[in-house]
Order: sequence, then C-alpha cells, then structure tokens
Amino acid sequence: MLPYSTQFIEEDDIAAVVDILRSSHLTQGLKVQEFEEAIAHYVGAKYCITFNSATSALLGAYSVCPIGEDDEIITTPISFVATSNMAIALGVKPVFCDIKMDGNIDETLIEALITPRTKAIVSVDFAGKPVTINAIKAIAKKHNLITIDDASHALGSDINQQKIGSFADMTIFSFHAIKPITTGEGGAVVTDNEEYAKNLRLFRSHGIIKKQLWNSDMVSLGHNFRMTEFAAALGLSQLHKIDRFINVRETIARYYDELFENHKLFSTIHIDAREQSARHLYPILLNPELHCVKEEIFSELQQKSIGVQVHYKPIYQNSFYQKRFGQQRLQTAELFYKSELSIPCHQKMSIEDAKHVADTLLAVIEKYAYRGCSF
Ligand SMILES: *Cc1c(COP(=O)(O)O)cnc(C)c1O
Repeated sequence: MLPYSTQFIEEDDIAAVVDILRSSHLTQGLKVQEFEEAIAHYVGAKYCITFNSATSALLGAYSVCPIGEDDEIITTPISFVATSNMAIALGVKPVFCDIKMDGNIDETLIEALITPRTKAIVSVDFAGKPVTINAIKAIAKKHNLITIDDASHALGSDINQQKIGSFADMTIFSFHAIKPITTGEGGAVVTDNEEYAKNLRLFRSHGIIKKQLWNSDMVSLGHNFRMTEFAAALGLSQLHKIDRFINVRETIARYYDELFENHKLFSTIHIDAREQSARHLYPILLNPELHCVKEEIFSELQQKSIGVQVHYKPIYQNSFYQKRFGQQRLQTAELFYKSELSIPCHQKMSIEDAKHVADTLLAVIEKYAYRGCSF
C-alpha cells in the first residue's frame, strides 16, 4: 500500500536517537532545548515550547490565554477533532465557521459569529495551505480577540517568504509520525509573547519552578506533557531535512496540479504564487456528479494499493458534538466533505509513484463517472 502520507526515517535519524539512548539523560533536557531553539529560528518566532503531542500543545495554548469556562472560540469544522476538543476540555464552546473550497476557514464569515463571549479565532492551515492570516488578524485586532493557528499541517508553509508560526499570537505544530516532520509523537507552540511562553512551560511540567537546591515551588496547576530527549533528537535530525522533504512533496504536487488541470470530473486546490504550502496533503475535490460513487472510488483505490483518505468529516457531525451542541450544517463544509479525497503525497515517494497514483486515479474515476449522481 502506498499511503497518503508517511514518515521518512533515514540512518542518520536513527543514529541521532541511538546516541541519546546511549547517553545518561532521556527526559526533557538539552536536546529538547536545542530542538525548540531550532524550530523558533526556523519559523521566525521568539519562543518555542515543545509538548508530547500537538493535542497537549493545543490544550496548553488554550489554557494560558485569557479564555475561560463558557467563553467561545470561532474555529473551523474541517480539522482533526483535537483543534476544538481541547477547547471543550476547558469548558470553552467551539463556534464553527464555514470554510472556503480550499478547506480553510472563510474569513468573511467570522465577524458575524462574534459575540461578547468570543475570545479567540482558531484557524487551521488545511493540507498546509496558509489561511488568510492577515485578514484574520485584522478582525481579531478590531474585536480584541486572540489568534491561534493550528498549523499541524503547515510546518514550512509561508506567505511572501514569511513562515507560518510568525503570524498568530500562538501557532501549534504537530510532529506526529505522518506530519511534515516527525518526533514519533510530539507538538509545539510557538509565540512571541513572553508571558504565554513562561506559562506554557509551567503548564507542560507540573507548574513547578526550581528555587534553590532541593527546594522547588508549584505555582500553578500543570501536567507532564514533556517531550523526551530522543524525540527531540529525531526532530532536530528531521528539521535539517525539511527543505528537501518539502521539495519532494512540492514536485509531486506540481506534477499532479499540471496533469489534473481543468479535469472535467474533479478539481484541485490552487496554491497562490506568493505562498508556499508544506503540502502535507494533496486533496482532490470530486465534482458533485461523483459524490454518490465516492465510496466505490475510495474502496477501489485502496484495493489497488493506493492509500487514500478523506479529510475531514465536519467536526460537528461527530456524535459527541451532536449530543452536546445539537445538529449543525455548514454548507461549504458539507460540500467539501462530500468532495474531498486525499491522494498519496509524501517525501518517500518517487515521481514514478506519483505517475502510478495519477494513472490509477484517472482510470478509476473515469470508470465510475458514467453512473452519474443526481444532485
Ligand atoms: C494531527 C493534528 C492534530 C493533533 O496532533 P497530535 O500531534 O497527533 O496530537 C491537531 N490538529 C490538526 C489539524 C492535526 O492535523
């Protein structure tokens, strides 16, 4: 099976991890610090605080900013559930804003959703394509809101050569196995805000500060969400390769872009010339006349060893959300979910692999197209 995304681990990554395993120190220490400095430098942020996952990084981000019980955040339904779950964990209500057909939150719809309880706008750079963060920041500024960007897909993405991670008040990255680079499991918050950074470090590690000798003081409620030294060593080794990884994904994505341009049965997502997408995913959007055969197309591609996936079921459609917040339907999010199919695009693929994916995809899609769905 050629997966839609996968990690790429090389001998030097393994050596970096083994080095740490042979050393005397395994838990958060100098390697973690080195990794944090490298990430902060890479994205152009002042502070980077790593976590054992992006999910705990999100919980940290929501915890350290002034959002409390019964407050609201405005966010996108087209994301992994963790984006809004971690707000709910703090008693905060996620208010879902509709999206555009590029998978990103529709900034023109945000203002209408703002209430006196709204505290933050939480965006997601879907598939690696940067959200319109400057427009979102302008709305946030006008209404005195915080901007949090879940950039789990977007380490390495940029707008006019300025990296994602240097725009929002806090930006979250994931180093889960299949994300742009990996530490196995892992995540980080980057920010320029010293107060947030200080509180994120406390939140990550029991809320304890060291005083003198054996004396420490627990000043706030914290967790153990620390990253290990061997995870950080892997992350550092991977970060050195990020340009190469993105280049491979970009080459494959451009090959698909050109080949699929103006296809009569599906479309692709355009990346503006002034932007770079980390190309975490390569989504195609099936035309409505193929929506009723999407399951067949999906299954047949899997049978043919092409690992496809759908990103994402609108979060509010999950039974937990329906029970807690009632039924909801956002028109473009629904359409996007019916249309979207992510096809293989990762740093372990060759251009021959991409050609094989494209040939198989085109054949399968054309085979089912004759059925036509009424809509
Ligand atoms: C993967 C992902 C997460 C969760 O990341 P973990 O590191 O697995 O906790 C959160 N948000 C988005 C958009 C993701 O893709």
